[in-house]
Amino acid sequence: MFRFLRPDAQARSLADVSIDALCEGQTLGVIVDLDNTLVGYRQDCLPADHQTWLEHARSRGLRLVLLSNNFPERVGTVAQAAGIACVASALKPLPGAFRRALALLETPAARTVVIGDQLFTDVLGAKLCGMRTILTEPLVEHDFATTRVLRFFERLVMPERRT
Ligand SMILES: [Mg+2]
Repeated sequence: MFRFLRPDAQARSLADVSIDALCEGQTLGVIVDLDNTLVGYRQDCLPADHQTWLEHARSRGLRLVLLSNNFPERVGTVAQAAGIACVASALKPLPGAFRRALALLETPAARTVVIGDQLFTDVLGAKLCGMRTILTEPLVEHDFATTRVLRFFERLVMPERRT
């Protein structure tokens, strides 16, 4: 069970994920989480360094999709601003929406990386679908009530994590 909760790498934020390393690792597609990974909890505005990261990734040929458990209105707003496709109401870690995201990307799971800030949604779901994962630190300390519960268990599984 624990191997499904072990990210392949960690980064402080999306902007710190090395696009060179992704490309060198034969990555073709990237699935990005929304809340507290791409934008802060309850924030609509994309940080400038994340917009730059998305543009850089796209210029290197990486395919991108936003995957979020949040509602379609919020996810669609941010995805439109970011200029990328999205899958909302994902029910992560269940595999269904990860598979929909893969279908949008048209990339094989083995060459797709999931980047997100939660072990029990982003990392677990990615691992269940055979994808690599990069765990980021949450952008802000605020979280949904359900996420705050999961954070407690994250600290049990990964006590070395700083959050
Ligand atoms: Mg998140």
